Amino acid sequence: DLFVLGSFVAACSAMVARQPRPGETLEAQAFWLDPGGKGLNLAVGARRLGARVDGLVAVGRDPFGDMAEAALRRAGLPAAMLRRVDAPTGAGIGLVDAAGENCIAVFPGANAHLDSAAVAQAAGRLIRARCVLAQFEIGEAPIAEAFRRARAAGVATLLNPSPFRPVPAALLADTTILVLNATEAAALREDLGLPTGAWEDLVAALLARGPRIVVVTLGERGALAREAGGPLLTQPAFPVAAVDTIGAGDAFTAGLAVALVENRPLAEALRQAAACGACVVARPGVFDALPDRAARDAILAA
Ligand code: ADP
Repeated sequence: DLFVLGSFVAACSAMVARQPRPGETLEAQAFWLDPGGKGLNLAVGARRLGARVDGLVAVGRDPFGDMAEAALRRAGLPAAMLRRVDAPTGAGIGLVDAAGENCIAVFPGANAHLDSAAVAQAAGRLIRARCVLAQFEIGEAPIAEAFRRARAAGVATLLNPSPFRPVPAALLADTTILVLNATEAAALREDLGLPTGAWEDLVAALLARGPRIVVVTLGERGALAREAGGPLLTQPAFPVAAVDTIGAGDAFTAGLAVALVENRPLAEALRQAAACGACVVARPGVFDALPDRAARDAILAA
């Protein structure tokens, strides 16, 4: 159903009373090492909702690469998704303080080595999907290659330009579904030289540049979306006690993609996506917090 062209990041997190000053060493109150990265989150999120998921993720020939392999296996994702390259596996370090503020450094490592040749090799698998998904924790060239091949084969594409970098016009033209959070939407508007104004004006301007569906997520203010030729839809966030908002966007995007490949109308897909986002916000971490259908439907029914 879905083909995820994405990243893997081994995420180290430490809980500290406050952020350390330069040169200072602090004792941390807790430490975790979790499998992460936007690509893995998307793939696991979609798989847990019952979708068949394939894809391409690059890791190194090192212990963090083995961790990625174990995480894929644990999530029921195909081992063929993993590509071992001669670079260290992507890894990140985050310090979370008592105020909930975080300082993070991410080293892309192997993620930057996922290239067009790897996409070309996987082309046979890619065009069997109903939708190809990509985010920006990997390089430009493989995404352009994958989306070009997908569009030529009549396969839908979903782009979430996160973390933000400018989106080339050709890539935007090859994008079927564009998903942005508020920060990315503002950055894309500026990059395209579009005037500031209501989100719906930006959505309309983006629909004119290729995508068939544009979605903007607004955190606890929910999300809005429009399909070409359709009305503006708004979806409030589901009220949950927020524990940790990291990964909300990935869970939302996975939920949206699964609903759309199941041919749900956009309004219903938005509702399911918002429920998936709420599930991740209500629990610590991302990997273990990504909902299955039962967890998603419990939020929808509440
Ligand atoms: P990102 O994680 O990419 O910054 P958002 O913060 O916009 O993305 O969150 C994505 C979606 O997750 C939102 O549209 C909303 O449906 C859901 N969500 C985010 N924060 C909350 C929250 N505090 N309570 C409930 N739902 C939330």
